[in-house]
Amino acid sequence: MQTIRREIIDENICVLTFDRPNSAANIFDRATLNELDEHLDAVAADAKIAGVILISAKPAIFIAGADLHALGKLGEGDLRHFIELGQNVFNKIAALKIPTIAAIHGACVGGGYEICLACDYRIATPDRATKIGLPETKLGILPAWGGSTRLPRLIGVPRALDVILGGKTPPAKQALRLGMIDEIAPREHLLRAARRVIARGVPRRKKGALQLPLVNAAIGSVIVPAVRKKLMRKTRGHYPALFKALEVVTAAASSWNENDSFARERDAILELAKTDACKNLLRVFMLQERARKLVFAPDVSAPPITRVAVIGAGVMGAAIAQWLSARGLRVILRDIDAERVAAGMARIAQLYDAGVKRRLFDKREARDGLDRISPAAMEVPLDNVDLVIEAAVEKMDLKKKIFAHLDELAGRNTIIATNTSALSVSEIAAATKNPGRVVGIHFFNPVHQMQLVEVGIARETSKEAAQRALRFVQKIEKLPVIVRDHPGFLVNRILLPYLAEAGRFFEMGASVADVDEAMLDFGMPMGPLRLIDEVGVDIAADVAATLAAKFPERMTVPNVLHGMIAAGMLGRKNGRGFYLHRKGAEPVPNRDAEQFRESDSAAHVDRAELQRRMVLLMVNEAARCIEERVVDEAADVDFGMIMGTGFAPFRGGPLRFADASGITRICAELAHLAEVAGPHYAPCELLAQMAESGKTFYEN
Ligand code: NAD
Repeated sequence: MQTIRREIIDENICVLTFDRPNSAANIFDRATLNELDEHLDAVAADAKIAGVILISAKPAIFIAGADLHALGKLGEGDLRHFIELGQNVFNKIAALKIPTIAAIHGACVGGGYEICLACDYRIATPDRATKIGLPETKLGILPAWGGSTRLPRLIGVPRALDVILGGKTPPAKQALRLGMIDEIAPREHLLRAARRVIARGVPRRKKGALQLPLVNAAIGSVIVPAVRKKLMRKTRGHYPALFKALEVVTAAASSWNENDSFARERDAILELAKTDACKNLLRVFMLQERARKLVFAPDVSAPPITRVAVIGAGVMGAAIAQWLSARGLRVILRDIDAERVAAGMARIAQLYDAGVKRRLFDKREARDGLDRISPAAMEVPLDNVDLVIEAAVEKMDLKKKIFAHLDELAGRNTIIATNTSALSVSEIAAATKNPGRVVGIHFFNPVHQMQLVEVGIARETSKEAAQRALRFVQKIEKLPVIVRDHPGFLVNRILLPYLAEAGRFFEMGASVADVDEAMLDFGMPMGPLRLIDEVGVDIAADVAATLAAKFPERMTVPNVLHGMIAAGMLGRKNGRGFYLHRKGAEPVPNRDAEQFRESDSAAHVDRAELQRRMVLLMVNEAARCIEERVVDEAADVDFGMIMGTGFAPFRGGPLRFADASGITRICAELAHLAEVAGPHYAPCELLAQMAESGKTFYEN
């Protein structure tokens, strides 16, 4: 299979076009690297060639990096060869005596950017699809095809660390500012711009960033310890790739000897590839890919969705409308009166402003996005919209009324979705004459940050509605997980018992710091009490109450939440919850909340024990989601929890964690806790059976 075309243009310029057949992406597998190697030999042997341009024929991808499927499977010897092959081929490009230009359009990440770093000059298009950088550390590895060596030499150590440790892939404008690329050119002029550079000669680089050994002392004594400390605080040491990358990048900058540095890259990646963290992070990556391609019903036609109405302009409705309009969809935003619609529109304008500040879009794009939203304080016809998303208040009676009415207003082929957190989709659908078109589309808060969307399928939901909802979620650049219609779907179902237990620990005298630090130590992005504050104490209590009504034998709403709500401690939104939240300052524990304590029985439980108990409750509930077929596979549970709650990604999710800890052990601990700490710990049937039969959630 040929993946690269070699052509001569303008008589003496060689263009290497990456165009992997039958694929939307270019990637580097062994065959492609070998093919590139042969092309480079041919170029080196042809004295007439005056320059080389690397370009891609794909609409949205330059080169997406190494073949990660292979990377996950290779044994140590093969992996070493693969890494060496990439380094050697890229070094061959760097050694060419003629100008080499990377003409970048689309995703240019990992190995895709490392090959550009081996070139003399980089031009990129300003398009949305163009993202440039080195995300390797997010996968538990580091750039080892020269990236950890060449980037600090190109842009200096602090910036290179920022990109590599952050796993960043900025758009072209930002990449240009950072010095990661040299020029921006519109797509239609990309090739021409590259030819022009060859004709004029590659400009000599400004020296500054290149004189690296001179800043040696500062790197060793100031940057490294400071960065290490920051990393430790942020990751609690769970991500070895970050520390390795720090070591390799700073060492690369302290010596001119590139070969030594390449050897360090190689050794580091071989070591990292063996870690559980890397294996789990690679799996998460694969699960994201899977979500992007997920199909519910391949045999039904699922006409695309372009016009949407959002009902409710509150926290979620406004944020959903903003997200959709920013992706080119026309949106009607409806609420019950002009004031609420205006408040929603103001929130949307704020979200757009913040996006402009973060350079996600320019002012004009923001204005166009805002213009795509039609605010509606009065009833408007909905027969022309493809999808209605209801995001009104979480009350069953109200939702039923709204759905009965929407059923009359909406066109025959319109899908009607609810953003409910924990109510039954089936029950809501029963208020309509056509329950087949009703589906759950559950976004997470904050919408612009959370990639996961649960597509909740009720018994009545038609295949067509499910498939269209799924396609819609994929099209708006979110990652779907398909869940059956159970209270709290998947993520809230597992999260709430954990949050409730955290509240209960507080109620029993554990300190805010102990409860939250225990889970930060485990690898959660935020402690559970802090998360309750972020979600809103009232909202958390509401969702917990819905779940408690369904599962009274094991779920309750901790009293402390009721007390806090009555005292107006609603969390971050009004500045007081488990923490006091002040603008611009780190939240500090709110001593006033301690008045709602009921005992001091947990005051001396150590953090390890608190952590173990909270984690085990999540594992138990996660297993129940398999037992009750909320989802089909353990991978769905783990993916949902990682993407929906940030569940310690390096652990691979609650069920992967259960396998790693040993199901028998987990089951025994739960059984013990059920005796000493309360019956809500009792292991579910499935865990008990698995412990008995020696089964695991995953086969490998
Ligand atoms: P919110 O209270 O901020 O907003 C609800 C809005 O719906 C209000 O502006 C209200 O005026 C409006 N509304 C009420 N009745 C209406 C009607 N008949 N027609 C049109 N609008 C009406 O609530 P929210 O936090 O945005 O939650 C909305 C939904 O999203 C709920 O079902 C909630 O469970 C779910 N959800 C919330 C979160 C969250 O963190 N807030 C996360 C995921 C899902």
